[in-house]
Amino acid sequence: MKEYKIGDKIWTYTIGWDRHLIPCFVCNGSSWIIVKPVGGSDADEQKVRCEYCSRTDSETPGRVNEGYDYKLNVRQVEIEGVETTRNKPSEYKYNIQSCSWNTLSAGKIFDSEKEASDVGKVELEETKVRAEADNISRKKNTLITHAWSLGYHQRMIRECRKTVEYHRKCLGLPTEEYDAWLVKINSTLKEKNK
Ligand SMILES: [Zn+2]
Repeated sequence: MKEYKIGDKIWTYTIGWDRHLIPCFVCNGSSWIIVKPVGGSDADEQKVRCEYCSRTDSETPGRVNEGYDYKLNVRQVEIEGVETTRNKPSEYKYNIQSCSWNTLSAGKIFDSEKEASDVGKVELEETKVRAEADNISRKKNTLITHAWSLGYHQRMIRECRKTVEYHRKCLGLPTEEYDAWLVKINSTLKEKNK
């Protein structure tokens, strides 16, 4: 592998990202909601801060995050530090500050802008594909969570019913089926007596 030294100017790239913000679908991007009581007049209207976008993202009122926009940054940097292992360069550093620096791995050092850009473009596409797959999987997981809680609550209702039945039996009270039967009989009788 080609070796570089302090002072060499090389090309590298990073994959950056920006949040993809869309107008909040609850307050229509205004970050405020007008609340009016049912049957009230315009004078009863009140303006309240939209809970949805202010809670999910307080820095950008009226907007919510809908994934990320990835972009490629290609630039030239000067090598400011070289770490060696067994007398061979193992890591290059640039932008060295008093207690921080950026690290360059061997696969991200290029002699020309074109090389850095070509390799960077491939990684950018891979990042986008991975992010899209993550998005799909997150949406799927959300659906699974909803389906799971639906099943969970249905199971809890069935179990609670069994518990109620048990305690009713202990007290010699009629079962829920018996109650349901009574309701049905009563309404049938009422219909007949009309
Ligand atoms: Zn909102």
